[in-house]
Amino acid sequence: MLEETGIRPYMNAHDTYTVYGGSRMGRDALEAMKEISEIFVDMYEVQRILGKKIAALTKNEGAYITNGAAGGLMLAAAVCMAKGSMYRYRKFPDTGNGPDEAILLHCQHNAYDKAIESSGARIIEIGDSDETREYELEEAIGDKTAAVFYFVSSLYERASMPLEKVIKIAHGKEIPVVVDAAAQLPPVENFWKFTEMGADLVIFSGGKTLCGPQDSGVILGRRDLIEDCIRFGAPSHGICRSCKASKEAMAGLYAAIKAYVEKDQEKEYQRLYSMAIQVKTELDGVCGIKAAIREKGPVGQSYPRTFLDLPFHISAEKLKESMRKRHIYIGLEQGNTIYISPLNLKQHELETVIETLKNCLMESQEETL
Ligand SMILES: *Cc1c(COP(=O)(O)O)cnc(C)c1O
Repeated sequence: MLEETGIRPYMNAHDTYTVYGGSRMGRDALEAMKEISEIFVDMYEVQRILGKKIAALTKNEGAYITNGAAGGLMLAAAVCMAKGSMYRYRKFPDTGNGPDEAILLHCQHNAYDKAIESSGARIIEIGDSDETREYELEEAIGDKTAAVFYFVSSLYERASMPLEKVIKIAHGKEIPVVVDAAAQLPPVENFWKFTEMGADLVIFSGGKTLCGPQDSGVILGRRDLIEDCIRFGAPSHGICRSCKASKEAMAGLYAAIKAYVEKDQEKEYQRLYSMAIQVKTELDGVCGIKAAIREKGPVGQSYPRTFLDLPFHISAEKLKESMRKRHIYIGLEQGNTIYISPLNLKQHELETVIETLKNCLMESQEETL
């Protein structure tokens, strides 16, 4: 197919991005998808059976499979606004005079909160870029509040209120807390960490580190709310009908989660770490590069990446562009720095990335001489 259509393969030394096609699906996921693709099913039954299995694997009360973390945000918002009423749900995005406010920390405002609004919810921001104060959350909660949404990311930590505190205040007023942890794997413990803290619903993307179908995601959490996800979510009619997950995506995600939870996490970390070391060893000192390993992903996940500080006469942006022209995506960091993430690379691809990077470096070195 690739040859016939002319679709060109890229290597991903950057990170798991939808625009690059997400991640590489695992064998287990692909096999599960193929197997279920050949039969007809009862979709509600598939959702319940796989949901129960995923809940057990992730140590949660319940699980609902959706078409991605963004679709999960939309459904979670709808469920919190409907409060069990199918009548109200079917009218969304017209929320009438029901509770339709989604409270969000201003410092966590990001590209994905449109998914909350797409349900008909209105976002009420609290706090500022420096700080979020307890009284702001306390006073923002009122009759119109449907839920508090919390985006977990190391990028927002400084100005955020800790999740535990948000949960305590929201629960004091009987308001559910929905956590977007879409990219928060590894560590695998995050599957249960936030719900153990008391979060009511927690959302993960299936198409990132889980290596499930790119168009899959899961909502984990409270049994009664997951029951409403099943009632209101696709294939039911209503706004979330456009967040439909196919039986193939559902089976693929289940198989991916199972494989991920059963994987030897320590061994996987060591595999990635040795790749990070290889990049450091082979590039440190080349053309004046300073290489260092950081043991965190871009939003605080626990995996290593190698950062390469470039000398001032080599532009990081131009280097990234030269690599892209050679069909390799690399990461860009502030301060004329690039990074290589091993997360989506196979060993033989890593060799190619390092070789190509050396060639590009030599080229830009020559250009400036
Ligand atoms: C990636 C991401 C999403 C969207 O995930 P999809 O599964 O692609 O819909 C939502 N929220 C956050 C914080 C993300 O990182």
